[in-house]
Amino acid sequence: MDKKTLLDDLIRNYRRTHPRSEEAFRKASQFEIRGGSHNLRTFAPYPFYDLRAEGSKVTDIDGNTYVDFWQGHFGNIMGHNPPVVSKTLIDYFEKGQGLATGFPGVFQKELAELICTRLEAEKIRFTTSGTLASMYAVMIARAYTRRNLLFKVGGGWHGAQPYALKGITVYDAGLKHVESAGLPAGIDSTINMIRFNDIEDLEENFRKYGEQSACMIIEPFIGAGGFIFGTLEFLNRARELCDQYGVVLIFDEVVSGFRFHAGGVQTLFGIKPDMTILGKAIGGGMPVSALAGKEKFLSLCAPDAEESKRVKFEGGTFSAHPASMLAGVTFLRYLIGHEEELYTRIGKLGAKVRREIEEIFNSHGFRVRCSGDGGEVAPNSSVVGVHFLSPSIDSVSSPEIVWNPEASDFEMREKIFKLAMLEEGFNIFHGYGGISSAHTDDDIQGSIDAVERIAKKWKKYK
Ligand code: PLP
Repeated sequence: MDKKTLLDDLIRNYRRTHPRSEEAFRKASQFEIRGGSHNLRTFAPYPFYDLRAEGSKVTDIDGNTYVDFWQGHFGNIMGHNPPVVSKTLIDYFEKGQGLATGFPGVFQKELAELICTRLEAEKIRFTTSGTLASMYAVMIARAYTRRNLLFKVGGGWHGAQPYALKGITVYDAGLKHVESAGLPAGIDSTINMIRFNDIEDLEENFRKYGEQSACMIIEPFIGAGGFIFGTLEFLNRARELCDQYGVVLIFDEVVSGFRFHAGGVQTLFGIKPDMTILGKAIGGGMPVSALAGKEKFLSLCAPDAEESKRVKFEGGTFSAHPASMLAGVTFLRYLIGHEEELYTRIGKLGAKVRREIEEIFNSHGFRVRCSGDGGEVAPNSSVVGVHFLSPSIDSVSSPEIVWNPEASDFEMREKIFKLAMLEEGFNIFHGYGGISSAHTDDDIQGSIDAVERIAKKWKKYK
């Protein structure tokens, strides 16, 4: 395929239909790096700047409206600005409440109870980003075990915290490089990489480093690594080995929490980690994250914890912010109250999209596979990744396949297909994204029809 011509055509058309966004980007770039504060949002050639986001749709300042599958980094399970949450917040603000007070407030204990009950966690502490929660989780594990090393999975993204910036997206015969400057000297050798779903590699790593390792941090459903579920065998073996070697098992459920049912994916697997990192959905659209788990770990944040093990997870001006807690409680209550119908419906739509997009591309001669299928463990998976694979690759079984340029075409997925779908009125991410309860059947069918048109059109570039 002549990808260059295709991309040039798409960019030309994008520029033509987004003149105001181009101007906004130029102005924003005077003061913000690359016109924004999140690199993923400022895609090339420049992002569209949104004016209004409601339900399944987003409208930009150029007047373009898109059906959106990015949905607030996949956290908006009920679509953009669901009235059940926004109206509750408006009422609260109309009472003159909701902004930061610096007091504990009345809603945080409710959100704490709700999440702990759903996850069968003993204790929880809130903070404001998944990054912070994951950093504290590793610090607690290191303090508790007094060990220096840790295990991380290749392709895992746990936010930009020092203990997790190795082996994310840079492929070089594996995912094993430190991907940020500015880290403490020697951090590279403290992080040992395990291949996702590779039991042999897992066992070998534990044999070599298990006794010196504080924790294993892993997404049981890997998000940025390709929308791939851990296998039951792999996750069970990880639990067993962590027990055997005294390693703390940390599940990062920032993406998977409340995405596949009203709780953690750990419940679906029947595997209990020692600590769980949560974010995205639990705030109902507000900045909330949390670390939940066994009391013996969480209690190390208390002022009266044994001094040599005490972890300074104790501050956060905006931790458990009142409006955020209310949004989280309202959102999660709704999800729990509508669990059966809501998750079943979006799960069915997810399965349809995965099946049909694969069929369409393959029938037009492209080697495309869709990830996100949760099998028997998570039958209601509403996420879809679309991967353009090389002929020798048959399935998206690991993040190494997703990030190896010889196995999977990143440019096709994140640039070309993205712009082509925007042209058709659909905003996608990782090849498609997350389906919310606000998406109508027509939204979904429309996106499939758009893929059909694109696949047909692309033949001429072959
Ligand atoms: N963990 C996972 C699995 C994530 O996907 C993310 C963000 O996308 C994070 C942690 C970091 O969360 P935040 O962006 O809220 O800092």
